[in-house]
Amino acid sequence: MPVFPAGQVWLAGAGPGDPGLLTLHAVNALNQADIVIYDALVGEAILGCARPGAVLEYAGKRGGKPSPKQRDISLRLIELARQGKRVLRLKGGDPFVFGRGAEEALSLRDAGIAFRVIPGISAGIGGLAYAGIPLTHRDTNSCVTFLTGHNAAGEVPDSVDWAAMVRASPVLVIYMAIKHLDLLVAKLRHAGLPAERPAALVSHATLPQMRVLTATLGSIVARAQTAQVAPPALFVVGEVVDLHAVFGASDLQATLQSLPLTGPVPSCQQAS
Ligand code: SAH
Repeated sequence: MPVFPAGQVWLAGAGPGDPGLLTLHAVNALNQADIVIYDALVGEAILGCARPGAVLEYAGKRGGKPSPKQRDISLRLIELARQGKRVLRLKGGDPFVFGRGAEEALSLRDAGIAFRVIPGISAGIGGLAYAGIPLTHRDTNSCVTFLTGHNAAGEVPDSVDWAAMVRASPVLVIYMAIKHLDLLVAKLRHAGLPAERPAALVSHATLPQMRVLTATLGSIVARAQTAQVAPPALFVVGEVVDLHAVFGASDLQATLQSLPLTGPVPSCQQAS
């Protein structure tokens, strides 16, 4: 495992939530960092892998103050690196998947700060596997599309060619879909998807409070309202959702979820 040099920023993904989905590189970075700047989706069990004495700094909304602007976070990373700190920027999932990792990496490059990127398991991949929804299956699709329900302004992106996307991709995985779920469904229906197309919402994927709501495109908005699905959640549309009935409810999954825990993440024990 590499040594974390002073004055560098490592931009790492923490996976969708279950600490068991951290990569060895991410744990190695946590074990050496002087300061960890983390996002809202990074949980306590993961932060528990930081070396004793490391400073944990939340990059999200705090004490009623508005969220720091992306530029402020980048400037903070640069400032800390210039102080000679080993700076770990820890993000949910993968830093380069709808995570603004590219913006931060570009700012570091412009400031002449050495950095590396440690990929993580994106929620749309690992999270859906825990929900028993395979992204591809030879009987249904050889293509899958990931998209975001928010643009930089928090609105449904208008740069998407919905009709072309729906024609080209039988499976859609939509991040940040809760706020504008009704509008997203309307766009997909308008683009030609039938009301009976299977659809699911997976919230808090890989965590003990994970919930999987399966429905159809025509019924999902009402079902989500009744069930009060809360973010973070993924919206999945396509025939693969039907396999949740097989994999999500299988004895194997149930057994895995009820296994007793052995203790903290192996290389995090000194921090607990
Ligand atoms: N970089 C992250 C995505 C950040 S955007 C990644 O690769 O996973 C934040 C969105 O990710 C949330 O709105 C939600 O759609 C999704 N997400 C992240 N963690 C999740 C989880 N545990 N369960 C369900 N969705 C999750």
